[in-house]
Amino acid sequence: MTEPAGAGSVGPGTDAGPRSGSGSGERVAIVGSGLAGCLLATLLARRGIEVTVYERRPDPRVTGPERGRSINLAISARGLEALDQVGLRELALSRALPMHGRMVHSVTGEPGRPAGKQSFRPYSADGSQAINSISRAELNLALLEAAASTPGVCLKFSSRLTGLDTDTGTLTFDAGSGPAEAKADVVLAADGSWSVARRSVTFRPGFTFSQDYLEHGYKELTIPAVNGDFALDPDALHIWPRGSSMMIALPNLDRSFTCTLFWTGEEFAALSAEPPAAIVGHFRNVYPDVVDLMPTLAEDFALNPVGSLATIRCWPWVHRGDGAILALVGDAAHAIVPFYGQGANCALEDCVEIERCLSSAGGSWTEALPLYAERRKANCDAIAEMALDNFVEMRDKVNSPVFRAVTAGRHFLERRLPGRYVSQYELVSFSTMPYSRIRDRMRRQDRATVLAAAGVAGLAGLLAAGARGASGALRRRTR
Ligand SMILES: Cc1cc2nc3c(=O)[nH]c(=O)nc-3n(C[C@H](O)[C@H](O)[C@H](O)COP(=O)(O)OP(=O)(O)OC[C@H]3O[C@@H](n4cnc5c(N)ncnc54)[C@H](O)[C@@H]3O)c2cc1C
Repeated sequence: MTEPAGAGSVGPGTDAGPRSGSGSGERVAIVGSGLAGCLLATLLARRGIEVTVYERRPDPRVTGPERGRSINLAISARGLEALDQVGLRELALSRALPMHGRMVHSVTGEPGRPAGKQSFRPYSADGSQAINSISRAELNLALLEAAASTPGVCLKFSSRLTGLDTDTGTLTFDAGSGPAEAKADVVLAADGSWSVARRSVTFRPGFTFSQDYLEHGYKELTIPAVNGDFALDPDALHIWPRGSSMMIALPNLDRSFTCTLFWTGEEFAALSAEPPAAIVGHFRNVYPDVVDLMPTLAEDFALNPVGSLATIRCWPWVHRGDGAILALVGDAAHAIVPFYGQGANCALEDCVEIERCLSSAGGSWTEALPLYAERRKANCDAIAEMALDNFVEMRDKVNSPVFRAVTAGRHFLERRLPGRYVSQYELVSFSTMPYSRIRDRMRRQDRATVLAAAGVAGLAGLLAAGARGASGALRRRTR
């Protein structure tokens, strides 16, 4: 039996695999050195637990980053709190651009609203809170470097997991030079939405699994800097809501913007068959204020792939075999659509929860992992729903005057009732309140608001009726 040779592997990797430094002797394997895998490796190694991380890609410190699923991400309170656990919060913030609100670019030809009109909607009632646009590759690299420099972490690159047998504790890999095997007692699957580790248990009796695709996919485009400066306001997440579809843009440190189109498959297919002039023409009609800021539009549109968007739900997240215990982490357990900007934030929160559970279980994996799963499942289900709902809000509702009035009303209540009335967006993005509690709180808060509004309306009605009655009586008396 051989372990895959890790190009650029760091740490005490041996053929026998790592032994836990916690004294219990378990060999711990993490599959995937994405955001969750790297954070988890660092957190565990800092507890004295030796871990081996297996990653299908080559070492990005040697090869440069592979073009990922998205060029930049919005990181907010939960992600920052998790990064703080390994001392990376300030580094991340120093490499990020704050976005204090949404900049909504109006629909072409809307009556009374000229094409390209922009309106800024702050994310928080007092306008002070921001989500942070950061390069996914840079954030992953910072986490990878933190893991690599933590004693006890062994990184094995170019090691693509192809199979896992929890009864024998055997992981099999395609390691470039051929198949290879390794043994582990604990396998933490952080290998993303299309997790191979998860596939090893997908057809077991009792495993519930669903994968719901949106009819929308996504494609990235670029707005480069203009004369060395940002072409749009960098302090906002830009949205071009167009009813059934939308485009968004997030700023990058090099003063460019990465735009993401969220269109249906049909929309992509229809335009993909067109010549460059027709592509530019379509954008001129639908996104008139930015088309001239995208000099490589037709080329980017033709060359950049369309990614798919799915919500993945499964249960249980923890599987005990005779040879190993497996737990699913991050997107491998609960991939969500990106419309709340929470997938990575949520995956990083998982890692902190695993560490917390391990602490409270006195280092016992068999106690800690089920506890982690129980604590996280309802929260991850809640953010999955909120993310789906937010798509409708972003592509459609943000344009409606009613929605704008409701948002303004909510911000008003937040200012008048600080701490007692807080919007869902603020609780999700600027607090670490468990997601499932946010849903419950919003239901209570909305009920109270409706009652209060009804109360105010009722009181106003009574006062008006009283006034009418009084004036009627007065009229009767004076008749
Ligand atoms: C368009 C888009 C925009 C997004 N925007 C945001 C945002 O603004 N904010 C936010 O919080 N989230 C966002 N997300 C979600 C976020 O990207 C994910 O939730 C996050 O990356 C999950 O982290 P992870 O570590 O679980 O998985 P990943 O980041 O997917 O990492 C998985 C790792 O496992 C490796 N791997 C995969 N298969 C194998 C294998 N067989 N063997 C070994 N290694 C393997 C991969 O190479 C990768 O390194 C966005 C997602 C998309 C698609």
